Amino acid sequence: MRNPARLSRAASSGAVPESADRFQVFTERQLDQIPELARLTEAERFAMRVVAQVLPFRVNRYVIDELIDWDNIPHDPIFQLTFPQPGMLQPTQFQQIATALNTGLGQGELRTLCAAIRHDLNPHPAGQMELNVPRIGAERLPGLQHKYRETVLFFPSQGQTCHAYCTFCFRWPQFVGDKELRFAANEAGRLHDYLRLHPEVSDLLLTGGDPMVMKTKYLASYLEPLLAPQFEHLTTVRIGTKALSFWPHRFVHDADADDLLRLLERLTTAGKQVAIMCHFNHPRELSTPTVRAAIRRLRDTGAVLRSQGPLVAHINDDPAVWAQLWRTQVRLGIQPYYMFIARDTGARHYFEVPLVRAWQIYRGAIGQVSGLARTARGPSMSAGPGKIEMLGVTEINGAKVLALRFLQGRNPAWTHRPFFARYDTEATWFDELRPAFGEEQFFFEQEYGAMLEAAQA
Ligand SMILES: *Cc1c(COP(=O)(O)O)cnc(C)c1O
Ligand code: SF4
Repeated sequence: MRNPARLSRAASSGAVPESADRFQVFTERQLDQIPELARLTEAERFAMRVVAQVLPFRVNRYVIDELIDWDNIPHDPIFQLTFPQPGMLQPTQFQQIATALNTGLGQGELRTLCAAIRHDLNPHPAGQMELNVPRIGAERLPGLQHKYRETVLFFPSQGQTCHAYCTFCFRWPQFVGDKELRFAANEAGRLHDYLRLHPEVSDLLLTGGDPMVMKTKYLASYLEPLLAPQFEHLTTVRIGTKALSFWPHRFVHDADADDLLRLLERLTTAGKQVAIMCHFNHPRELSTPTVRAAIRRLRDTGAVLRSQGPLVAHINDDPAVWAQLWRTQVRLGIQPYYMFIARDTGARHYFEVPLVRAWQIYRGAIGQVSGLARTARGPSMSAGPGKIEMLGVTEINGAKVLALRFLQGRNPAWTHRPFFARYDTEATWFDELRPAFGEEQFFFEQEYGAMLEAAQA
């Protein structure tokens, strides 16, 4: 981190340091060019290279200079969030890649090996590819997902990357060049056609990657037309982003930052709700003068800021961290919205936290903050049937059980109906749970199975 005294002076005077460092990015190929990594041993740097063969890596100067505390590596949470860690691969996978690098295996063979390992990391959890792609007539619309009645997800092709990559990323396959694992759309027309035909949709959610990596002119081509009267039913535009963490200059100093703010302002002035769904994992991300300025500027457009992020080991599996994160957010005008359970994909074994433990952390954090910070829901799993919230551990007729409910269901009728699973301190994902009272299945499973079959037919 830079000199804290300088940061706090800048913050108190309201001044924002210039974007002296233009956006400078480092990927797997430039690992050697990050001088800060000299603090690691040769073996640690090699391990990083091994993991980065399989899982995506991208970091930038802002993250390196302003977010990571280099006196505390490798334990520093932002270092864990962005730099490949040896534990992210299983020992046998790690060994295979290490041997390949040491013996100078050919590029083609290395690629094949990496592809095989990626294939074993459940690249597409929750049936995203098959089940949720909507159609107009017989035409499939790639780049759109319509899973829950009110909300359509849109993956603009120019937004399918991020300013840096999270080590736990649940959309990691699209960052490692597996083109067939990528869903993206590059034209606005189909999106607008679909929205016109679906008056039940109130929310459009732009997602990625990070849509905020896009130039403002592209964002405008998707969003500006929504001001027309045919889109009266579309009341909310949500934009999912981690740019406030990874590149807040996007909203302050980038060449088209002001244009972006004016675009958002046109939408809010016309009566749309603009919700910036910011992805945060740790209070450190909210600490720099640039992110503070970015938040102020976004709020000034009339947009609402809501936060969401996963609970992950090595980064934020601590009630005190979440309590501080939520408190800071409320103070800055960001509404805590979701705490997620890390998805069952990628390096999950390194980051996963058992459901019971996750709930204890959630509850421990909620208990420390005022009601205004208790708007965070969760811990929640985005699973095939829907978003399932861990309500907690309780006892029924002397038996310990887990109480759960849908926050979103593939069938809206499932929403908020409590159900119970057998107590299990090990389970880290919904598919490891069993019904609590000897039932064959959970109440929705038969219907969900039929939906899967219908989609494959
Ligand atoms: C989370 C999610 C949404 C939005 O759900 P809300 O509870 O309204 O925030 C929409 N579509 C998909 C596929 C989602 O995972
Ligand atoms: S911001 Fe989201 S999409 Fe981008 S790397 Fe992180 S988890 Fe993945």
